[in-house]
Amino acid sequence: MSVSDALAYWKGLEAMGGSGAKIHLTGGEPFANWPALLDILQAAHAQGLCAHELETNAFWCTEPQQVYQRCRQLDQLDLGRLVVSCDLYHQRYIPFERVKLLVQVATDVLGPERVRIRWRDFFANPVDISDLGPEQSRQAYCHAWHSHHDRLTGRAAEKIAPLLELHPASTFAGQDCRKPILASRHVHIDPAGNVFPGVCAGLVVGNARQNPLSQLWELLLSSEDQILQTLIQQGPYGLVSVAARLGYQPGQDGFAGKCHLCTKVRRFLWDSGKFAPTIGPKQCYYEN
Ligand code: SF4
Repeated sequence: MSVSDALAYWKGLEAMGGSGAKIHLTGGEPFANWPALLDILQAAHAQGLCAHELETNAFWCTEPQQVYQRCRQLDQLDLGRLVVSCDLYHQRYIPFERVKLLVQVATDVLGPERVRIRWRDFFANPVDISDLGPEQSRQAYCHAWHSHHDRLTGRAAEKIAPLLELHPASTFAGQDCRKPILASRHVHIDPAGNVFPGVCAGLVVGNARQNPLSQLWELLLSSEDQILQTLIQQGPYGLVSVAARLGYQPGQDGFAGKCHLCTKVRRFLWDSGKFAPTIGPKQCYYEN
């Protein structure tokens, strides 16, 4: 994301949310491009803007001196809080030692109240899944999900949801998504300007490069987009009917939750090529 785009979105959100606006810089992984992240934070700081939270998985924390320097820079830029991801899913790829190093250094530099570990219970009792057999891994994933109920979208819909208790699609009839789409007071904006409501990855309610955020919100409220209206009024079970007209049949294995159902149906609709840009971008549905 360019500095100018980031600042435009940042100011737009502050204009809409006033002093209650909370800017959370996350990814992907924002530290994957530290110079770009620093440019954005410095440019924002120069205009009196400070990030409420910055989230990282600590993949980059191999050199204590570099970790210290970056934490000092974040402190000088008045970062509100550093959020460190720590859970079974991340620790399959990121050595726990890196998380531990970052938490130690950030706590020293920023103070404990400015370091949030997500999740602290896992940090206290980390599990190395690489040592576990298939059944133990399955149990560990089930335990992780039941501990924190992360939303079953994206890869979680493919990898985690099938391990959980599954229900027929009709179980989710009548569970509309008015609140998560229109009233969560929470959006994600990706580098292309796509705006997602709450944590509904892959559901685009508008593009912040094409319309200022305040205008985009007005457009959303009057939108007649078939996908958005179906989800707002009927939830993902309503999307099943839309997809069924194109040949979709809900999987016989069932669904672990309404977001799992939503993701599976939206992936089918993405494949149909008929619902862009509302269903997109491709990265939310396929890894490559
Ligand atoms: S079911 Fe879909 S639209 Fe509703 S909250 Fe979940 S991901 Fe968002």
